[in-house]
Amino acid sequence: MTKMFANKDKKIKEVEEESKQAKLQLNEIMKVMKTKLDLWTQLMSQMESQTEVGSGSGTGMGEAACRKVFLTSRTKCSIASSMILNETYASSGAKVIYSVASGLGHHWEPHRECRRRVTCILDCLEVANLTPKLQGSEIIQLDNIRTATMEDITSVHSRSYVSNLEKIMEELDASGEGILPFDSIGSTYVTTKTLQSSFVAAGAGLSVVDSVVAASKVSENPPIGFALIRPPGNHASPYKKVPMGSCVFNNIAIAARYTQRVHGLKRVFIIDTDVHHGNGTNDAFHDDPDVFFLSVHQDGLYPHNTGKVDDLGHGNGEGATLNLALPKLTGDVAMRNVFDEVIVPAAQKFKPDIILVSAGYDGHVLDPHGRFQLTTGGYYTLTSNIKQLAKDVCGGRCVFFLEGGSNLTTLANSVVESFRAFVGEPSAPPDFKYNFFLVEEPSLKVKEVIQKIKHLHSL
Ligand SMILES: [Zn+2]
Repeated sequence: MTKMFANKDKKIKEVEEESKQAKLQLNEIMKVMKTKLDLWTQLMSQMESQTEVGSGSGTGMGEAACRKVFLTSRTKCSIASSMILNETYASSGAKVIYSVASGLGHHWEPHRECRRRVTCILDCLEVANLTPKLQGSEIIQLDNIRTATMEDITSVHSRSYVSNLEKIMEELDASGEGILPFDSIGSTYVTTKTLQSSFVAAGAGLSVVDSVVAASKVSENPPIGFALIRPPGNHASPYKKVPMGSCVFNNIAIAARYTQRVHGLKRVFIIDTDVHHGNGTNDAFHDDPDVFFLSVHQDGLYPHNTGKVDDLGHGNGEGATLNLALPKLTGDVAMRNVFDEVIVPAAQKFKPDIILVSAGYDGHVLDPHGRFQLTTGGYYTLTSNIKQLAKDVCGGRCVFFLEGGSNLTTLANSVVESFRAFVGEPSAPPDFKYNFFLVEEPSLKVKEVIQKIKHLHSL
């Protein structure tokens, strides 16, 4: 018997050693691929500059056309290379994989949607020891994110919407003003770098989708993805001619279409936890039965006249839109009830291939732009629940997209809590500082909404 145990121990040690060696080899492969990609990128840059000098002579093409061919081929090759590299990263046993697009050029100092939103989150992740540097391969930051293509963007927005933005950028450049406040209530602005930042943000979301989907093919526990990007997207509607609610391109809607078009995933379940209704995403899939849009938001808040409980979708998409319009002062308890009684049965009934999350953090009790009273610890619970749900209904395929959140401290602390939930660390919220602000939740009103939704959606 003793000998049998000794043999077993020996075998376990052998397997552990083999796995260690395999991980080391994988790291080496990743290094080599990254070097090759960098070399290749340099080569393409040289070709581009030669194109500019040579003006396409002898090819029968004009300068602009020639440059476009090179740029297109560069984008396509870059997409292919970063996909391969990101797939390799993702299959290395990571628990969370994230991309960063801080949109530094899209910035207006007094505005709540400013460039510090993402950098502040990164600083807090560092302080909380939740970075690749400190957690090894459990946490991976993609360093080869790609820019979205026109095809990606126009899967949701019209070509004329993009052309209109291009024109505005040109005019802004020419006028030398730099910043243009966009609507009467000042919720949106553009700078000369807005379009560029928006293409990068949307692409950073797609890069994470590539990695998570690739990892799910080789692992039953793929990493959760998080696109730490701005400008955000859930108010950007395919039916509007201009940006809205601080959003330019609807990043999550573009990603939903991308998972269908490129990865062949048919059914997408979107959960929007921003305190404001995600009207843009609601519009994008209103008549689509294959993309379920579920929004949890404060009733009557911006954009004011959308997101009502009885908006169930339209035509073939009727039943695939679910709006949990909740009363002000909704907090952690209500969110847990809503999750158990509505979100879980809706996802189980829909049977998605992937869950995408519009992760807004402006439902925090100290955020100035909503009247919910979620806590940082509440966001931990919500994230853990979504992670488990993805595991139960779609093989763990799940990607978060940063949306709102204007109190920089609570935004960053709440995203840190989400990361803790991703890696399985216990919650460690600094909530004691603001529990003082919490008041009783409107449990009766929340119950009424839940009952109405269950009835309308046959849950
Ligand atoms: Zn919001």
